[in-house]
Amino acid sequence: MHDRLILLTNDDGLWAPGLEFLARVASRFGRVVAVAPDRNRSGISSALSLHGILRLQDLGGDRYACDGTPVDCVLLGIRALLGRTPDWVLSGLNHGLNLGEDVFYSGTVAAAFEGRLQGSRAAALSMHPEADTARVEPWLQTFLERWESLELPENRIWNLNFPKGEAKGFRLALQDNRTYHDVVERREDPRGKTYYWIGGNVGPTYAMTPGSDAEAALGGWVSLTPLRLDMAWRA
Ligand code: MN
Repeated sequence: MHDRLILLTNDDGLWAPGLEFLARVASRFGRVVAVAPDRNRSGISSALSLHGILRLQDLGGDRYACDGTPVDCVLLGIRALLGRTPDWVLSGLNHGLNLGEDVFYSGTVAAAFEGRLQGSRAAALSMHPEADTARVEPWLQTFLERWESLELPENRIWNLNFPKGEAKGFRLALQDNRTYHDVVERREDPRGKTYYWIGGNVGPTYAMTPGSDAEAALGGWVSLTPLRLDMAWRA
């Protein structure tokens, strides 16, 4: 039995099937404690709840629902529950890929960054909405078996995206560019008041740059992208 301590979180909420799947696979590698939002918090990035109280609901079996953000979950998990830095912080598996500039909006990726800031080895894990977990499982298992031996400088996390269908293999990939169509729809509620809806029906468009995460994950590969906390440009 491993004595690793593994903190699990996500941005889709504690009851998301992707988290349950990740917990099942991760439990082969150590003790898994899941602290995740009590609702879907996708797209909330690194938001911190600084102006309100937070509550944790103990659901038993090392599972906790938190009424805060994914980053709140990592902080509370480490500082209030575990009492020590976990060996791994795993975030996911997100319902939907996190490619290109998605990583700036993603709560999944933000939670992994927070894990790294707290001193843990950290990864953000996402899968295509049509991915089949039975096919993802052996690739996830292989990654978790090997990632401690992958050399990564400080302040880096792994961003993984699992494709739909049978994966062709792992691809080390760079970050692609995504075009946001930034559709903001103006609608009217039943009482005649205006409201707005961000999104629309236009899906994301990726540049599909050779060697990028989008080219890999949308082409059937498991994309592995090291992301850095320090975003400053160096000549
Ligand atoms: Mn999500």
